[in-house]
Amino acid sequence: MAVMESAKHTLDDFLAQERAALVSDCTACGKCVEVCPVTPFTAIQSGDEPAVVGGVLGLLRDGTPLQEAAKEWSSQCNGCGLCIPTCPEGINPRRMLMLTNTTAAEQNSPTPQLFRKMSRAIRIMAAMQLAPPEFDRLLRNPRAHDVDVVFYTGCNPIRTPHLLFNAMTILDALEVDYEVVGGPGACCGIIQSLWEGDQPSAERVMNGTIHRFAGHRPKEVLSWCPSCVLHLGETLSGFRQASFDFDHVTNYLVARAEGLAGKFVQPVNKRVLLHTHDGMDKIGRNVAAMLSSVPGLTLVDTVSEPGFTCGGSGADRSPALKQAVREVTLARAEREDVDVLVSLYHGCHAQLAGLEAKGNFQVMNWTDLLVQALGQQPHDDISKRYRMQDEWDMVLDEGEIYLKANGLEMDRDWLKNLLPEIFAQTEFKGGLEAFADGCKKTEVAV
Ligand code: SF4
Ligand code: SF4
Ligand code: SF4
Repeated sequence: MAVMESAKHTLDDFLAQERAALVSDCTACGKCVEVCPVTPFTAIQSGDEPAVVGGVLGLLRDGTPLQEAAKEWSSQCNGCGLCIPTCPEGINPRRMLMLTNTTAAEQNSPTPQLFRKMSRAIRIMAAMQLAPPEFDRLLRNPRAHDVDVVFYTGCNPIRTPHLLFNAMTILDALEVDYEVVGGPGACCGIIQSLWEGDQPSAERVMNGTIHRFAGHRPKEVLSWCPSCVLHLGETLSGFRQASFDFDHVTNYLVARAEGLAGKFVQPVNKRVLLHTHDGMDKIGRNVAAMLSSVPGLTLVDTVSEPGFTCGGSGADRSPALKQAVREVTLARAEREDVDVLVSLYHGCHAQLAGLEAKGNFQVMNWTDLLVQALGQQPHDDISKRYRMQDEWDMVLDEGEIYLKANGLEMDRDWLKNLLPEIFAQTEFKGGLEAFADGCKKTEVAV
């Protein structure tokens, strides 16, 4: 990817250059719209494709606001990347739409104050699940010291912290010299750039995070979050030069798969179905390869869903498509009578975990299974326990113990009313107004 050192130009300048290049290179042939799996779930008709792209180019060229079809296409792009091989001009249409959505957000963000709301929701969710030393490990970034590897958790993954601690157990088993960086204090900047349309803030936030990485003088920064990989490694590719490699953590692990498999001492006698995503499909293949080396485990199949992840940045952008495919995945899990439906990322786990309550199969993250194979106990998946509850009071009965231990004392009824929004991440749809600037009782930062 790109980043670091001093900027030769601002993010605003960089984005302007990239938009101009797209406008110059794209012929509006419409092939990327033709292959896009989202369009059958929109009002876009066969033959509309060049005009749809023309609308996108108008926004990129001179800020002409998107009209209905182009708006529908760009806003529903889930990042699946199926359009990328089709462009005869060598353009990455996924990146073109990321830059389109960035431009649209600059004109009129549908989610103002998203970062503020998201940060508070993340802190509450983490504080409801973690003992204070664990909370500090994920949310208070360490002083700079030299390490080989930075494990970058991102910020939203902290809502499902157990899989991050599992990933650390795997890094520990490989005796990796690493330090953890993440939390809202080390955001990649996508929220400000793509969602809030505030490029100066995005640049400031991103610079701060890159500076944290660089302070550890790592050879590699390994990201858990696929959105960070996409944002820093693809959308902003070429913005800065880095002194370290930035990659998804599974690429690092799969390169050491033999050594890892040699440490598997515990058979995991389960039949599993692995849920992955079309976009960044190598990550799904990495996980399938690692699961295949677990003794006793039967990988029945891998089912790939649209988008590059579950959640507001990915599959949830095209909800009708997502729902249709999700039904197929769940039917497959039942038909194959699997023991476990395996989640890929934090966003996937958050959406799938509660399904375990139906009793047809367990939902586990791939890190749970690898940690079991290492002969260790996976980190307690408290977020799943919460999602399996019928009553928010029962969630709070356990959650308040952790909240108090972490120094967060909140009115129980106030929090209970907010929990459905916090767990559903409604801030990505403009919700969670209680955490917006100017609302009462927003000060829950820790
Ligand atoms: S990335 Fe996927 S959803 Fe987005 S435009 Fe390309 S094919 Fe369509
Ligand atoms: S991005 Fe490529 S495939 Fe899409 S309209 Fe432009 S030239 Fe055609
Ligand atoms: S992409 Fe990663 S770091 Fe950036 S906002 Fe999302 S979770 Fe946080």
